[in-house]
Amino acid sequence: MATTDRRARLTLLTGPSGVGKGTLVTRLLEHHPQLWLSVSATTRPPRQGERDGVHYFFHARESFDQLVKQGGLLEWAEFAGNCYGTPKQPVMERLLAGTPVLLEIELEGARQVRRSFPEAFQIFLAPPSFGVLEQRIRGRGTEAEAAIVSRLKRAKTELEAQKEFDAVVINDDLETALCDLERLMGLDNA
Ligand code: ADP
Ligand code: 5GP
Repeated sequence: MATTDRRARLTLLTGPSGVGKGTLVTRLLEHHPQLWLSVSATTRPPRQGERDGVHYFFHARESFDQLVKQGGLLEWAEFAGNCYGTPKQPVMERLLAGTPVLLEIELEGARQVRRSFPEAFQIFLAPPSFGVLEQRIRGRGTEAEAAIVSRLKRAKTELEAQKEFDAVVINDDLETALCDLERLMGLDNA
């Protein structure tokens, strides 16, 4: 009972770029509107179709640094040349209200959350193979070659860290991975 309660509270999803985190999170939110996904702050420029305040809060480096200085972020990290962080206040407000919160963040941020919220349930999303990961990140077509190379390099470090997590889900077949996430998060998938 206590474990289920904790899992319902704060769930964190990490995994290498291109593994399918965004795709699975979108599906989870469609099926489970009671979940609240934290919108991160970033210095990365918006991709086509991304909207400020919806996909990310887009910041210049100086204003991101201000957020850090003011203690406004629960965690933050640099990833492939840009900064990303979780705004603290909205997460704390949702948790206090009893809303299940989902964070989709990279490894260094996950480690910070592990220290500040040891009760968070941390899931690592892994690809079936490194080759499939590369195909997916290239197939998405959102990054230039230099950014793809940087993300794939980082992916190697992230994949080595999967044993630090409470659970690992392999995103081979999308529907199977979705069911695995739902089961781990105690969500009804009827
Ligand atoms: P991330 O958010 O982890 O960077 P995305 O959700 O953007 O990854 O997915 C990267 C690409 O892989 C997208 O083009 C997406 O459609 C595709 N994808 C995600 N999951 C699967 C899957 N299970 N099988 C095949 N393609 C997938
Ligand atoms: P992308 O540029 O592909 O949207 O995200 C790059 C990486 O940053 C992904 O691994 C994503 O999970 C991670 N990320 C997104 N938001 C945050 C955040 O708030 N904090 C941290 N630490 N990582 C984040």
